[in-house]
Amino acid sequence: MHQYKDFLRQLKQQNLLRSLREIDSAPDDIITENGKELLLFSSNNYLGLANHPSLKSAAIAAIQGWGVGSGASRLVSGNLNLYKQLEEALAKLKKTEAALVFSTGYMANIGSLGAILQKDDLILADRLNHASLIDGCRLSGATFRLYKHCDMDHLKKLLSDRKKDQKAFIITDGLFSMDGDIAPLPEILRLAEEYDVGVFLDDAHATGVLGSFGGGTAEHFQLTSPRLIQMGTLSKALGGLGGFIAGNRILIDYLINKARPFVYTTALPPSVLASGIAALALLEKDQTLIKQLWENRNYFYEKVSHLGFNTLKTESPIFPILIGNSETALTFSKSLLENGIHVSAIRPPTVPKGTARLRVTIMANHKKHQIDTLLYQLEKAGRSLKVI
Ligand SMILES: *Cc1c(COP(=O)(O)O)cnc(C)c1O
Repeated sequence: MHQYKDFLRQLKQQNLLRSLREIDSAPDDIITENGKELLLFSSNNYLGLANHPSLKSAAIAAIQGWGVGSGASRLVSGNLNLYKQLEEALAKLKKTEAALVFSTGYMANIGSLGAILQKDDLILADRLNHASLIDGCRLSGATFRLYKHCDMDHLKKLLSDRKKDQKAFIITDGLFSMDGDIAPLPEILRLAEEYDVGVFLDDAHATGVLGSFGGGTAEHFQLTSPRLIQMGTLSKALGGLGGFIAGNRILIDYLINKARPFVYTTALPPSVLASGIAALALLEKDQTLIKQLWENRNYFYEKVSHLGFNTLKTESPIFPILIGNSETALTFSKSLLENGIHVSAIRPPTVPKGTARLRVTIMANHKKHQIDTLLYQLEKAGRSLKVI
């Protein structure tokens, strides 16, 4: 045990120790922690669907009708027909032939990458890709090369260095989870075409956020391509839980047979499937929440831009406030907390060394006056910590 203790002590010294905080409410605009009310600006519940009445009633009805568990993996006896409805709705959202739901986004990434990539293949991955993509790439055993964040010249160079006829995939987040910028998908697809390689797009944050119907990065750029494999989640803007891959039927049938995190795990409970179906039905019927999200996001963007923080190149409701060192980022976050605002400090290894930051996320259900309060507190704490 003493090596664990040493490890923890070291992390603490470097301001990198992580610990759990308890929330005792839904992840809405206002949460409570030990009975204390806080404004929440660090959730991925972008559309406020995690506590939405129509998703809740769908989940409750599913529990009444089907119970709380699925009882087995999907290939054994857990494949409730709710999956079919959900996957059809996801394929429709992503404009693909088919979709396959995994229990989480993390599992969708490690499962599909592990199945698609072989040892002799080449992976070209954006340096800021999410940890689950990195883990999937590592697990596949394929050769793994990083290109500078969204740097198409670098990507092109790596593509042209590739061994002749080596199978390759470009792998990228659609909307980057910690920087809030969008991958240049049109250029990526153009290069993929030129060099005849595949593209794997992780739209965990883009699904429900980008595109007027919430279809994600491909909808945002009005693109489709047979080279593109789209991954997404039901766990962020869609308010529930689950990850998925959208693509052609053959790919999906292949994953059903090959992706171990799909095969060897219990199917999701009916309530989760039903709330996912309800979320997609809601998005299809009414884009008010997406509009509201972007209105709030633009309101905050306009005002925060005048304060002098470095928000990198955000183009979305995700706002990094770059600090640099972890200690200041932690102090900043604590000071906001003391003033009733929950914004997480994000530190290495989640982000590269020397780029600790606050990560502010805007939701559709925030009110203007709450965003004003956030701006006021950010400016106050930022000045006292000499970040601005
Ligand atoms: C959150 C996230 C995942 C994992 O999804 P979960 O459903 O939370 O497991 C994958 N990729 C990216 C980019 C993410 O932000």
